[in-house]
Amino acid sequence: MNDSPRAADTNANRTFPLVDTHCHLADPRLMADASTLIVRAETAGVRVIVSVGAIGSIQTDRDTVAIAENHDNVYAVIGVHPHNADSCDEPRMAAIGQLARSRKVVAIGETGMDLHYRNSTRQAQEESLRRHLRLAHELSLPVVIHCREAETIVAQIVREEGIPPAGGAIHCFTGSSPDAERFLALGFMISFSGIITFKNAQALRQTARMIPDGRLLIETDAPYLTPEPNRGRPNEPAYAALTFAAMAALRGADPAALAERIMSNAAALFRFKPPPASAA
Ligand SMILES: [Zn+2]
Ligand SMILES: [Zn+2]
Repeated sequence: MNDSPRAADTNANRTFPLVDTHCHLADPRLMADASTLIVRAETAGVRVIVSVGAIGSIQTDRDTVAIAENHDNVYAVIGVHPHNADSCDEPRMAAIGQLARSRKVVAIGETGMDLHYRNSTRQAQEESLRRHLRLAHELSLPVVIHCREAETIVAQIVREEGIPPAGGAIHCFTGSSPDAERFLALGFMISFSGIITFKNAQALRQTARMIPDGRLLIETDAPYLTPEPNRGRPNEPAYAALTFAAMAALRGADPAALAERIMSNAAALFRFKPPPASAA
């Protein structure tokens, strides 16, 4: 059985809108060109973009909210990345709470734990995750979780704190199938990045096949993790179309139906109005 995903979708006249549920438009590599990238995404069919601040200082969150406020189909997620958890304290969370008053802020995050890089101490990452879960709960917003080599402990903390009533997503999922089962049981959506297009990602593709339609999301995580066949170039939201095509192929799904499902999953989680399917 051929396990490798097909390359780019060849259906150039696609009319079903796609969504990039996680990218970083305020990243220094993307921000100057954000408006161009948003237009380029639209041209590729990626009509909704969820942009995450979180990396670095709160200025990244401010910039992310500003970009979202200036573009109809761009939404913002704000928080403190696990890499920066050492700088997550009460004043920072209060500032995030203030910023979350913008109607374009649709979730809190990305929070979580990264025990691969360990750029912040494990203890700070745990504490930061707890603070984010509580803030999401308070604000009735979903939470976006980054989890690398920390699936068991993250699931444990969520179990202790409770998943926010508005739900959440495990972004750029890279865990095992049992990890996915655990997060599904907790009520999360599972989001896959361009990693599913990488040659050596057979196990992850296997896991992506078993995620129920109603819990599936796709993302770029731009500027990171450029999907094949564009690996080596900086990633951008337009390339969500490549990851989407790979996902439809590996699930043997009808692209139009799957696109509609993923858009409605994202719209339900982040509570935005999905764009009409037939608009060009
Ligand atoms: Zn992440
Ligand atoms: Zn990210």
